[in-house]
Amino acid sequence: MLRLRHPVSLLIISLLVMFGVLRSYSSPAPVEADAPDVVFSAIRAEAILRDLLPENMPHVSGSPYNTVVRNRVVSHLESSGYEPQIQSRFHCNPMFGSCSPVENIIAVKPGSEGKNAVLVTAHYDSGWAGPGAADDGAGTSTILEIARMAADFPSFRNDIIFLISDSEENGLIGADAFAEHHPLFENVKVVINLEARGVAGPSALFETGDGNRSIIRMFSNNVNRPTGNSLVYEIYKRMPNDTDYTVYKRKGVMGVNFAFAQGVSVYHSAIDDPDHLDLGSLQHHGDNTWGMLKSLGERDLNTIMSREDAGYMDVFAKRLVHYPVSITGGLALFLGVWVMLAIGLAFRKEFRFRQLRWGLVAIPYLLITIVAGGYLLSWPLGHWPDLHPLEHPYPWAGRLALFLMLGLAGYSTLKLFSGRVSACAWMIMGWALIFILGMVLTSKLPAASHIALLPLALFGLASVIDLFRKKSPAPLLFASLFGFATATLISFYHFFMLDVVMNFDQSHIKVISFWMMALAVMPMLLAFVKERDLTWQPAKWLLAAILTACLVHLFLPGFTAERPRDMALKYSEVDGEEKGYVVLESLYKTHDRKYAKGHDFVMTELNSGRLGTVERPAREVALLGLPGIWITEQPGRKVEGGWSREFEAHLPDGSRVLRLAIPQETGLTKAWVNGELALDKSIETKHKNTIDSLQLVYPGGGPVKFEIHTTSPEEFTLAAVTWHDLPSVLIAPFMGNWPDEAQPFAYGPRAEKIQEFKLSAVESSRTSP
Ligand SMILES: [Zn+2]
Repeated sequence: MLRLRHPVSLLIISLLVMFGVLRSYSSPAPVEADAPDVVFSAIRAEAILRDLLPENMPHVSGSPYNTVVRNRVVSHLESSGYEPQIQSRFHCNPMFGSCSPVENIIAVKPGSEGKNAVLVTAHYDSGWAGPGAADDGAGTSTILEIARMAADFPSFRNDIIFLISDSEENGLIGADAFAEHHPLFENVKVVINLEARGVAGPSALFETGDGNRSIIRMFSNNVNRPTGNSLVYEIYKRMPNDTDYTVYKRKGVMGVNFAFAQGVSVYHSAIDDPDHLDLGSLQHHGDNTWGMLKSLGERDLNTIMSREDAGYMDVFAKRLVHYPVSITGGLALFLGVWVMLAIGLAFRKEFRFRQLRWGLVAIPYLLITIVAGGYLLSWPLGHWPDLHPLEHPYPWAGRLALFLMLGLAGYSTLKLFSGRVSACAWMIMGWALIFILGMVLTSKLPAASHIALLPLALFGLASVIDLFRKKSPAPLLFASLFGFATATLISFYHFFMLDVVMNFDQSHIKVISFWMMALAVMPMLLAFVKERDLTWQPAKWLLAAILTACLVHLFLPGFTAERPRDMALKYSEVDGEEKGYVVLESLYKTHDRKYAKGHDFVMTELNSGRLGTVERPAREVALLGLPGIWITEQPGRKVEGGWSREFEAHLPDGSRVLRLAIPQETGLTKAWVNGELALDKSIETKHKNTIDSLQLVYPGGGPVKFEIHTTSPEEFTLAAVTWHDLPSVLIAPFMGNWPDEAQPFAYGPRAEKIQEFKLSAVESSRTSP
């Protein structure tokens, strides 16, 4: 029988833990349509989704096709017995300077007590490029199926408000309209929001309101397959992403925000259609929503806000480990002292202080080698191949190369330091480092302290078993094994977590997650190799295996028809210029070079439409002569804190979007569109307030009144971009050899007219000399 701390046993433990962790990154099997009504079925929800989007067309809020989709959503609610109402207005979200028509769909299941309400919400509008089956058709169809299930259910204590919101993609405009103007909003005490940032994978809890201790406990108790990690929430807070829940959270409403995030290259693309949606993600959305809805429906929502936050992390998507952040400081200290004592007692006879000297070299050597190895591999794995910035369709060869690199880093440490560093010295220093990490996290990022506290806790608990074992040649065997298994769990969990948000060009960052595992495994390996002579031969084999894995990786395609690159054609013309351009647009800047060359696209300096230039692959074509806007200006005046300028923009019929860019030095502070506040730069956002632009989506024809407040009275230039449909005859010559693995993303194909206007200085500001 293999001894427990034999390297092969440790490898088997690591692999078992890794496969367990992969469960946290996979979605459940969809439940069939004949399942009883108290169970959510992804197959039933999929039928709804296909009924909403049979044409597979984009349906941006305000577009004619969005009306078609809206009518289908309404008729589903009606056939489930609801009387849906539409909240209809032209609205602006001053957080983003963005305006559009809004048609929110609202249905209510009255509660027995009423007054307080649970808001269950997803948005039905799509982005410009695709039908948005995952984002957020999945959320919409989940809510429609849940609303149908809930209709037959006895009343809950609280009202349930189903809000299928509009115009999320243009800047959370529908949610803002609901929160600012709908009378039902004041009853809302908690929100369940469903979103997507991809087309596959688990529906993870990635955001909550502040004071989430209580709702995290509910999530843990009422959801079968909880996935989520409070570190993700900490990262998300620092990312420039928002969802409808941002609006409600800013108003202090508690909530749970679920999204799936794999298959990000299909997100917002032309093929975000029902065929590309992982039905397991839909199932997970439904299970999470139904579990939370039933328990929140019955709960006293006046006490849903806790005084503090919880840290949490799921283990194999089976259980949620969660803890109040207030205990982390004391707990870290207690566990650290316990672990240090256990090690000290176990090795009190053989420990000498001078053993630590080589540890001071060996441990940094291993940790640095891991990151350096990741950095070196980031070139063949990430920089050299043509890749999407966030996702690889075939990631396992690259992952294997990284795992083998870890093996090489570990083996070289053993070869160099075996005989110099004792197992005991490494154990003391390794676990002391984990303890220090725990103390740092509890003070800086307490909701992420489980990263260090879980391995410490398991090491500590298992040391009790060792205490009662008969004296053996392997002191702290169980503590080491459990500590190692938990450190491995933490390492793989966070490796795959980073894998969802970065590609192999960031390999050096991803492999940092393996520091924990490396620190915990080395004492056992050092003990194992103590009496053995190590040669460099295994290191050579490992190196050969790494190079082979890299080679295989380099031959794998970085883009496939299922995981496409983003590339679209747009037409651009600037007012007053003689030629127009067909531009090969790729927002991630990963356009197909072969295609560009084959169709004579050359890098060209173009007007960005934001008072600057950008370099893009483009080709000159004859001018289309698109209609633009014209502006009439009123005289400016002094207002508190600055200057007010008013102008009217006359828009051509049929323009999809008007974007105005205002130079930063003008000091735009606030803006109104047709009398409604459209931008307020004093609102703190994650976007660092860099937005000095106004956007109108489907504004209709005719004049639009703008009033802007600036800190400078000087004359300035304003850039205006108008979007029109892209005439297919214009791009037909470019469509030959269009690569299968390229799809429009985000804004999609369009024709844009760029104009610049001078707005005059405010006269009264001139003082005569
Ligand atoms: Zn969305």
